Parts: sequence; structure tokens; C-alpha cells
Amino acid sequence: MHILLLGAGGFLGSHIAEALINQAAHDVVGLDIDDDKLDGIGGPNFRFVRGDVRDATQVEELAAGVDVVVDLVSYANPSIYVTQPLEVFDLNFRSNLAVADFCVAHDIRLIQFSTSEVYGRPLEPTYREDASPLVMGPVTKQRWIYAAAKQLLERVLHAYGLEGRLDYTIIRPFNVIGSRLDYLVPAGTVGGPRVFSHFMSALLTGGPMYLVNGGEAHRSFTHIADATAAVLTVLEHPGASKQIFNLGNPANDISIRGLAALMRELYEELTGATSATELVEISGDDFYGEGYEDTNRVPPDVSKLRALGWEPRHDLRTTVADAMRYYLGAANSIPQPSETG
Ligand code: UDP
Repeated sequence: MHILLLGAGGFLGSHIAEALINQAAHDVVGLDIDDDKLDGIGGPNFRFVRGDVRDATQVEELAAGVDVVVDLVSYANPSIYVTQPLEVFDLNFRSNLAVADFCVAHDIRLIQFSTSEVYGRPLEPTYREDASPLVMGPVTKQRWIYAAAKQLLERVLHAYGLEGRLDYTIIRPFNVIGSRLDYLVPAGTVGGPRVFSHFMSALLTGGPMYLVNGGEAHRSFTHIADATAAVLTVLEHPGASKQIFNLGNPANDISIRGLAALMRELYEELTGATSATELVEISGDDFYGEGYEDTNRVPPDVSKLRALGWEPRHDLRTTVADAMRYYLGAANSIPQPSETG
């Protein structure tokens, strides 16, 4: 297959590019504003092009003749939803809609990454793609602009599918972690990257581990290898056409306070040292700024993806330890902030 990978230089993109390169059957063109995370990743069936997805002419040139567009382009970071809501809308809705319109016009299959955040506040013990309600918080909590933008994009893709104009697959990832995720931050930083990167930074610097609103919210963490395996499954399986899939590991549910404890324990196990980091409770507004609303997340129902033959294979301890190993080994060469992807 000829594949255009939009957002190839991000965390997910760099891993998906690597997995596709290893499958010699595919020819891949990767587009991104930067390629730091693609350092050392390449092959005869991969070409990287530096550019912005908002440059429609460039996207159109690159998409000519491809079979599939995989669109990963996104700001996937609550700190940015709060501080730059219009920028989030512009990239996560307008730019991705332009990509979808292009796929419609040229009859190209689209695999669109969405987010587990579209579910919003959970009303049920699990999330089912085609049954659970999507419950956003108030407009004045601009955290939800990201989820609302992704939700509307999903609805447009579904409508195109209904009219027989687009062959799409939507993937809703649940807190995927692994090597090359985000970036490290100095001790005491608030906002910025996602929770794993904050806790990893705290362990390495001895700074505080901040527990936003007491760290009571739950998340299910997914191993990056399970995520890339899911993309390969969706790419190959005809049953993925015009479907939405949760991508997560329901067995890997933990509170954020629990994650902090697990990472401290693993840090000692992996390094033989004790980190000086302390747990410090902080409000959402103090950590992210006004307009943040925290949300609990229940574990996903992944039976739809399982029905295609995919299975999450990494338990929570392995998932967190594997991500930590990368940072422990490469702490001084972590790429600097790149919030997209
Ligand atoms: N969080 C925290 N401490 C941090 C960073 C985040 O307690 O240093 C919390 C955050 O409030 C949320 C959870 O961890 O409840 C996950 O946040 P993250 O930014 O990783 O992404 P999300 O899953 O909300 O998209």
C-alpha cells in the first residue's frame, strides 16, 4: 500500500512509521513540522517531508496516488487546550477536515486518529464506541474544545461514510505511553506535557510529583507496541471500514495517585536508587490555568478491535516500565518540546 502518514514526527507517528517501514510491503511518505523523533528511523520504503499539514498544496501533492492517509496531526495535551483553545480548534478541526475533504474528493481511504476524550464525563462503567453518550463539560471550561472538535470531525466522517463518499476508520486511543513520548521538564514545572512525562521528570530531577485534584482521576495506559499493532490490524482488515475503534487496555486502569506510586516503585527497581520526589497536591486551575476541568475516565471496551484479531499484550507494569526505561537510558537526549502528533 502507498501510505501518507500525517504527523509522522510525533510520538505515535514515529512508532507507526517504524512499524510500517518494517513491513516492506508498504511505501510510506511521512509529513511533519519536525523529525527529531524519527532520528535513526528510516528505510528504502520511507520518505520524510518537512512541512505543515495546514499547507493544503503540499498535502495534495504528497497525497497524489496514495491508497491511504493516516492522519495523526493533533495537539494532544490538556495544557494547550486550556491556554490556546483557538489554535486547538484550528488544527484539530479545520486542518483535519481539509484532509478529510481531500480524501473524499480523490477517493482515498482515511484512518483518522481521534481521542478517548470524546467520551467526556463517563456515565457508564465502560466506553462502547457505538453506544456510549459523549458528555462534554461547559463551554466556559475550554478544556473541552479539543474533545468537541474531535467529536465534530468524527461526526463529519461518519456522515461522509453514510453517503458512500468516504472509506474511513476512526481510532480513539487511551493514554498511549512509550519511548519518545512528550519531553522532560525542569523540577516544579506546571502545565506542559502529559502526566507520565511530568512524573518521569520529577523522578529524575527530585522535583515534586504534582497530583492534580488529589490524583483521584483514573486513566488506562496503553503500551505503544499495542497501539502500533492496532494500526497495522486496522490497515489490513476489511472489517475496519467505516468503523470507530477504542484503542486501549481495559486491564491497565489506575488512578493518577496509583500511577505516581507505581512509578516511584519502578524507579527504585530499575535504578537501585531512591528518588527525592515528593507527592504534592495541586488544583487543576493552579496546574493548568483557568478553564481546566479534570475528568475521570473508565476503561474502554475493546471488543470491536479484538474482533479483528487484535489483543493488548502489555500489562500495566510492563507498559510503564518500558516507557521509563527509555527515559532512564536517554534522559540527556530527550527531544525538546513538540506538542503535536
Ligand atoms: N495530572 C497530574 N499531574 C501531572 C499531570 C497530569 O495529576 O503532573 C493528571 C491530570 O489532571 C489528569 C491525568 O493526570 O487527571 C492525566 O492527564 P494527562 O495530561 O496525561 O492527559 P489526559 O488523559 O487528561 O488527556
